[in-house]
Amino acid sequence: HHFWQVSVCFSIHTSLVSCNVENACYNLGICAERTAISKAVSEGYRDFKAIAIASDLCEQFISPCGGCRQFMREFGATWDVYLSKPDGSYVEMTVEELLPGSFGPDDLKMKQVHSIPNEY
Ligand SMILES: [Zn+2]
Repeated sequence: HHFWQVSVCFSIHTSLVSCNVENACYNLGICAERTAISKAVSEGYRDFKAIAIASDLCEQFISPCGGCRQFMREFGATWDVYLSKPDGSYVEMTVEELLPGSFGPDDLKMKQVHSIPNEY
């Protein structure tokens, strides 16, 4: 297992740190990104400015899994995501850049048809 740490930032002065919550039953583990966001939401924060993701991988910038990208999208598409390496280098992206053409909360309010013809 790799070391993985995430910090989520709500304002210049407020942020919190999280980690992966791994489980002997592997698929029940929770990524550090979702842990950080859930921890923040449970403390009453929903407007995020940035999330910084760090790990022990040396040769590439760490990147959130698909599930975490969607989870982040729930809180907006334009906030910043910092992907880092142990040497302190990083790249800055937005949630939208990590998950283009995404599905989010606003899509639930879109106009719908009452029935979809099923002729096949
Ligand atoms: Zn993840």
